[in-house]
Amino acid sequence: MKIVRRKSDLRALTRGWRLAGESIGVVPTMGALHDGHLSLAAAACKRADRVIVTLFVNPKQFNNPEDLEKYPRTEDSDARKLAPYDVDVLYIPDGAEMYPDGFATTISVSGVSEGLCGATRPGHFDGVATVVAKLLRQTEADFAFFGEKDYQQVQVVRRVAEDLDLDCEIVPCPTVREESGLALSSRNLRLDDAARQKASIIYATLSAAARAIAAGQEVERVLDQARAELLDHGLGPIDYLEMRRERDLAPVQDTSAPARLFVAVWLDGVRLIDNLGID
Ligand code: AMP
Repeated sequence: MKIVRRKSDLRALTRGWRLAGESIGVVPTMGALHDGHLSLAAAACKRADRVIVTLFVNPKQFNNPEDLEKYPRTEDSDARKLAPYDVDVLYIPDGAEMYPDGFATTISVSGVSEGLCGATRPGHFDGVATVVAKLLRQTEADFAFFGEKDYQQVQVVRRVAEDLDLDCEIVPCPTVREESGLALSSRNLRLDDAARQKASIIYATLSAAARAIAAGQEVERVLDQARAELLDHGLGPIDYLEMRRERDLAPVQDTSAPARLFVAVWLDGVRLIDNLGID
């Protein structure tokens, strides 16, 4: 696995692969890799001839400077974790490579980026859409792999790829969880053992609520109970706990079309998100 830091060096490699008729898969990450990220790398290796994992802590998608500053940076161990996979390139651009002086373009997606994390993290999805569009161009990827843990992000990125004719298939991959049910996240590193244990109530609560809604119970009552359950277990505040239609993330009150529950909740100063489909 080559470590590449400049887009010109990356382009030299991708040009060669393209000329040889090889397909390219990309896995965009912000590093601090865990088994969730590695599952995306594995999916990419299965699907594409050449695989690029990108590592860039994108300042444009942080609406909170403290969150950006505290974001874990573990480049060496990230490279070691990828070693067992058939990854061709770990692409690690710095801020100046990604956003040189004079950079002035923002990609903004309406609809799917409104509400949920879009409401509580202003500017976040503009930052995501802008960096992902650049990464898809820089890597010339045919396939890009994203985790369903960030389900709204998948929908935003799908729109970007389609609306800007990027000619890249967005491939969603299932959420990887700890045995307790807690969705793996780089932010979990900031939780101590007790908080991590407490955080497992998020998945338990979502699962119980999804079952209750599937069984026909009234949605608002189920969601109120779920909110109370989280708060009773010492989590909070809750940014949102809502049901949305999967296709376009529109708010819905029934499950006549496939729907999902979405939650963002704080625990010990760390914001955790999760989502779950309703059968
Ligand atoms: P991040 O480094 O947090 O920006 O995440 C990079 C990619 O990994 C995104 O597509 C995430 O959705 C995905 N990801 C993060 N956590 C998980 C997880 N627990 N399971 C599957 N994919 C994940």
